[in-house]
Amino acid sequence: HMDTVGELIERNYRLRPDAGAVTFEGKTQTFRALTERAFQLANAFHAMGLRRQDRVAVLAQNSPQYVEVYAACEIAGFITVTINYRLAPGEMAFILKDASPSVLVFDPDYAEVVAKLSADLPGMQCIMIGAAGTGAFLSYEALLQGKPAVPPPIASRPDDIAYLIYTSGTTGRPKGTMLGQAAMAQSAVAHAWEKEHRESDRVLAVMPLYHVGAKYTQNSTHAAGAELVLHRSYNIEKVAADLQTYKISSAHLAPIMVQDLLNLPNLKDYDHSALRLINYASGPMSVALLEKAIATYGPLFMQHYGMTESGGTTALLAHDHVVTGPPEAVRRLASAGRASPGTRIKVVRSEGSECDVEEAGEVLMLSRMNMSGYWNNHAATLAAIDEDGWLHTGDIGYMDAAGYLFISDRKKDMIISGGENIYPREVEEAIYRHEAVAEAAVIGVPDPRWGEAVKAFVVLKAGAMVSEGDLIEHCRAHIASYKKPKQVVFVAALPRLANHKIDKKELRKEDWGGLQ
Ligand code: ATP
Ligand code: MG
Repeated sequence: HMDTVGELIERNYRLRPDAGAVTFEGKTQTFRALTERAFQLANAFHAMGLRRQDRVAVLAQNSPQYVEVYAACEIAGFITVTINYRLAPGEMAFILKDASPSVLVFDPDYAEVVAKLSADLPGMQCIMIGAAGTGAFLSYEALLQGKPAVPPPIASRPDDIAYLIYTSGTTGRPKGTMLGQAAMAQSAVAHAWEKEHRESDRVLAVMPLYHVGAKYTQNSTHAAGAELVLHRSYNIEKVAADLQTYKISSAHLAPIMVQDLLNLPNLKDYDHSALRLINYASGPMSVALLEKAIATYGPLFMQHYGMTESGGTTALLAHDHVVTGPPEAVRRLASAGRASPGTRIKVVRSEGSECDVEEAGEVLMLSRMNMSGYWNNHAATLAAIDEDGWLHTGDIGYMDAAGYLFISDRKKDMIISGGENIYPREVEEAIYRHEAVAEAAVIGVPDPRWGEAVKAFVVLKAGAMVSEGDLIEHCRAHIASYKKPKQVVFVAALPRLANHKIDKKELRKEDWGGLQ
């Protein structure tokens, strides 16, 4: 029985020390090496005076060291605080002040910004990954050297906080989500079971480890004793090559990465026959893209729906369960799935009563994987988790008679035009049905007559052409006329957040002129 994430690592150390834990840039680290280095690091932190539930911040791209820092904290009961390296210095400063870590582990690439940030945080010791140190910064390797490779004198407990992960900030300032040891151990086991991971599997992780998505991919891989193939950052050619080289059995991708993969001109030259599963999360994938993906790879796709606050994902849908019997199956391609084991999902009206089948309302989740609350933000915690423990997701969706959940959109992104509710996602789906369209994003803009009007940003496929008027006409054939865009702006690319989600905050800026 695993009730801490630390135990998940230590179990592999006992049972399969010589098996590969993490493969990175051609080198494989065994569970023995990973765990012993994590022990050394935990002992070093302990010697520096850190105690259970003290914070250890990380500002780094994916690397074996990132996994080691996580593991040290998981074992000793420190809280890992992850920092998105794409944030502006002011945003990083906000997180560091909020989380008040005792140490910050960082990549040499960020030495300059760390020097500036640490000036305001005298209590925080800075550790630079690698063998080099400087006056102000300790070297990571020097810190480990000579430390005992045995379990540290302190150990995590099931109700400790394991991670403090800040939400993506899609809708505003990121909030520190407290994810517990037992909650994340349960999520690891649930995911390993859902994805049918085996000890002999190799799992590809390319999403940043500072997000919960990559973290539960690592945890579920290691819960099964399987090997993680880790990329420093996302590169589609490297994804396509490594799927073949390492005979990857399962990969966790963002929807845009699936699109990039399908668009590779030389995709047919690769042998991806070891793949049993591609799971995708963090945002919707258009049905048009999903159909194309299934036509290429077969029905090995699994959608995940969830959020940082739910400790990862709580609704799952394996498309191989639903692609066999159209038209019902085709309809279900748009679904996010059914509640995974240990989770309950319901959809409620604004006054709290439960919606009928197919009636849209806010999606609520009840699960032991849910966060313990927001760090330093009791008011936000009370607003997010009600008295009975249900997490209010802020997403609008509906459930069909068989318990399949469909996510319409975020409550905050819903457009109200002429008194009618319009979900941007529905309009985007219609636009995607046009063959000239590569990408689309829809927002609401103020309109003197209708309150709000639908505005679309569209990226066309290379060499493809369609006029604004024709695209609007095309939408009318798929959705109610009042939902069609009033305006279409053609752009070269869409602004994206670090986790590859479309940055709608950026699109809403009046002067946003498109990326070149
Ligand atoms: P913030 O809360 O700071 O505004 P965020 O909500 O984008 O940022 P995350 O926790 O990374 O931060 O993302 C969770 C959200 O992503 C969900 O609430 C939902 O809106 C969206 N999402 C995740 N998976 C799916 C999916 N399969 N289909 C549709 N939307 C999804
Ligand atoms: Mg959110």
